[in-house]
Amino acid sequence: PRGLMWFRRDLRVDDNAALYHALRSCRQVMCAFVFDKRILDALPRADRRVEFIRESLVELDTELRRLGGGLIVRHAVAEEEIASLAQTLDVQAVFANRDDEPFALSRDAMVRGALANAGIVFRTFKDHTIFERDEVVTQAGAPYSVFTPYKRAWLAKLDAFYLKPYPTRGYADALGPPPEAFRAPVPTLRQIGFEPTNLGQLEMPTGALGGAALFDDFFQRIERYQAARNYPAVRGPSYLGVHLRFGTVSIRQLAGVAHQLMLQGDSGAATWLSELIWRDFYFQVLSHHPRVAQGKSFRSEYDKIQWHHGKHADGLFDAWCKGQTGYPLVDAAMAQINQSGYMHNRLRMVVASFLCKDLGLDWRRGEAYFAEHLNDFELASNNGGWQWASSSGCDAQPYFRIFNPVTQSERFDPEGKFIRRYLPQLARLPNAAIHAPWTASPVELEAAGVKLGENYPKPVVDHAEARERTLQRYGLVRGAV
Ligand code: FAD
Repeated sequence: PRGLMWFRRDLRVDDNAALYHALRSCRQVMCAFVFDKRILDALPRADRRVEFIRESLVELDTELRRLGGGLIVRHAVAEEEIASLAQTLDVQAVFANRDDEPFALSRDAMVRGALANAGIVFRTFKDHTIFERDEVVTQAGAPYSVFTPYKRAWLAKLDAFYLKPYPTRGYADALGPPPEAFRAPVPTLRQIGFEPTNLGQLEMPTGALGGAALFDDFFQRIERYQAARNYPAVRGPSYLGVHLRFGTVSIRQLAGVAHQLMLQGDSGAATWLSELIWRDFYFQVLSHHPRVAQGKSFRSEYDKIQWHHGKHADGLFDAWCKGQTGYPLVDAAMAQINQSGYMHNRLRMVVASFLCKDLGLDWRRGEAYFAEHLNDFELASNNGGWQWASSSGCDAQPYFRIFNPVTQSERFDPEGKFIRRYLPQLARLPNAAIHAPWTASPVELEAAGVKLGENYPKPVVDHAEARERTLQRYGLVRGAV
């Protein structure tokens, strides 16, 4: 039989479950990727993720051609295009890796239906997580809603089987080149209606080669992860989020290496593996509770919260987005996401907490902003992170724990290195003043060239007052006031 491998968020040849099964079960396999108009039309015209995908496709196509195949790249509505392509190419089966986001599930259901009408089978595989759906549940068969027991069960279930790579290269003979009519270079950004971004200037190598290079680099310092990961000025984390998002690295490979090191007593690797388990955890939360993707709180009582809204609230939201809240760590973090599409994990927690617990704004506004700007945007993890910060989520931060943006800054950026990098107008303030410039003396401000209200904003809220309002807001919901 002939098969079609449909790449989506698994843009690599090595250790790819669907590609492996396609190559094993078909005499000839063709490969395709669809720039889905339904997704692209909703994005801003300059989007680093689209450029990341495009660059990664160029690499994937080159690699597939080297192996005797090639990538057919289309710009269309995916569910229509895949069914029509499968018929034109006269394949008997289409292979893809599973994607459990609600949009993808409904798209895949349509594809399955359309293919079935044409007598073509649609086969999907787990590739994006170590455990998916209900593979890790309680003994009673219920989904976990607390991370620690989930992690325990996850680790207990893990064995070599789940980490084993899919050896696609051994079966690459089955790859077939696209027919002449479909043999074209990967379209340029402009051909699919997008403008170039600053991706090329960022330290964010694309494709499977880029993912491998970042992992090699991280591997050298993984043992320091636990100690370094909370300090945004330090190169502590892996920066692999975007590669995990688009499948330019294999989660099995990453988890396998981390697990091996953990067994050898490497606490950095153990902590990092835990983060990968959080990723699986949030995927299973989304899979069991798809309502969280429809703007619903995981804990429904939190949907009663009255968020600050109206013109003043809109102004505060705008200040948050632009990094003009007057709280340097928050503003530097927002400058980081705005300039690069990346934000350090500690800062994601700080700015998310600031949005809902200092500004009193609905967390869904922040969630949507992150969804548009993060290179590694992952619906499940982003929603999980926001619901954690707003206390409405599964195993979330208790509502009465409210980050103090100044204390967080003093603890995690003690010398203000990160702040200075992103807010050059504050660079000459002494360490003692950089976390809260409004506490600096007029002499200090003058010496540093900082004019509050002119070249750097005064704080848009008073943290102590905001904290009281938040306790009240949440307390009402909890019946505690
Ligand atoms: P590393 O520290 O090197 O971690 C390695 C990988 O583990 C990450 O790439 C990610 O896949 C996974 N991971 C780490 N922490 C978490 C976590 N808390 N939850 C789930 N997975 C995790 N992560 C995303 O991948 N996409 C998002 O859209 C996203 N939005 C977030 C929003 C908020 C409000 C918060 C608080 C966190 C969010 N995270 C998200 C989790 C985390 O901040 C990022 O995964 C991490 O900062 C990515 O950088 P890294 O690859 O260098 O991380």
